[in-house]
Amino acid sequence: MKSSLLDFTQKELLTQIKPSFRAKQIFGWLYHNYAENFDDMKNIPKLLKDELGEKFVVNPLKIIKKEESNDGTIKYLFELQDGKTVESVWLKMKDTQLDDNGDVIQEAKYTICVSTQVGCKIGCAFCLTAKGGFTRDLTAGEIVGQVVALKRDNDHKHNRMINIVYMGMGEPLDNLNNLAKAIEIFKEEEGLCISGKRQTVSTSGLSNKIDRLGEMDLGVHIAISLHAVDDELRTELIPMNKAHNISSIIEAVKRFPIDTRKRVMFEYLVIKNKNDDIASAKKLVKLLSGIKAKVNLIYFNPYPGTEYKRPEKADMVAFQEYLVNHGLLCTIRDSKGIDISAACGQLKEKTQSELE
Ligand code: SAH
Ligand code: SF4
Repeated sequence: MKSSLLDFTQKELLTQIKPSFRAKQIFGWLYHNYAENFDDMKNIPKLLKDELGEKFVVNPLKIIKKEESNDGTIKYLFELQDGKTVESVWLKMKDTQLDDNGDVIQEAKYTICVSTQVGCKIGCAFCLTAKGGFTRDLTAGEIVGQVVALKRDNDHKHNRMINIVYMGMGEPLDNLNNLAKAIEIFKEEEGLCISGKRQTVSTSGLSNKIDRLGEMDLGVHIAISLHAVDDELRTELIPMNKAHNISSIIEAVKRFPIDTRKRVMFEYLVIKNKNDDIASAKKLVKLLSGIKAKVNLIYFNPYPGTEYKRPEKADMVAFQEYLVNHGLLCTIRDSKGIDISAACGQLKEKTQSELE
């Protein structure tokens, strides 16, 4: 597998490519023009491109499948250089706002959900990604390449704002070095210029790695996939809870450097008759007291073969009301793209079974 030009910060690229003005031009081709290959880079001498082509590829992934939902969500399946596949999702968060004359007041807002590994080691009982086991970490360039490819495919100019959530396939903190590198590359001022504030790392709760991410001081947000309020159920759902139990996660969150205007997001996957009762809501309020938290309730999205069930809407709403009445901010994640196998791992799974 060749390295990718998307593996490097601008400074690193300057040491790889001489003269430096060429390196800067190439950086522009990568992040302002979303070049997919060396042929796209019109003002770069062929000799230099040939030399670079010996060692590097431009974008290490290609789109092999795309599913578009009627709510504007687009799910992508990518093939990597070694034939492995991962998913990303393009999410429309807010529609374009028009004034009375039909002029645009505010452009539509989008979030990109990216993968960090092929498969996952954590093995959560409810997660389809876990079923295939773990294959390998993604490189920084493979993480960055997902965003570049989605912006390109949606004709989203480099200077338009975008948010990134590390909530696709894999456990981001289990691939911390490449994750941190990708975060830095996204932040590059002459690149995509996506600040840490616009990037949210979602983790199943590796408490020691939450501390390490905090020490790196990258300015990113964290989202904790909590899903349960007692260790017994959490260990059933997320086996590594044995090593990183709920209280160790809460302690790590309290140490994490958080922008004073922001909150830590707690994801709570609601599963029928497992964790959808008011007693759980009550425990959750207690657990999060003293933390500037926001809870995101997620409907469990069933797939063939799972024992878990989607919760009733009424239970979901009652759960939310309890939290809100007790002072917690709480949203219910609307099931974006529910008609296109939205939860992570589900498009990949579908494609594989169609191919079999
Ligand atoms: N590994 C990280 C990030 C990727 S998982 C983590 O666990 O946080 C991203 C989110 O997808 C998690 O919050 C997880 O709970 C959710 N998810 C996994 N399987 C799901 C399913 N079947 N239905 C709904 N959400 C699911
Ligand atoms: Fe891995 Fe997250 Fe799926 Fe758990 S929910 S198996 S941590 S990707």
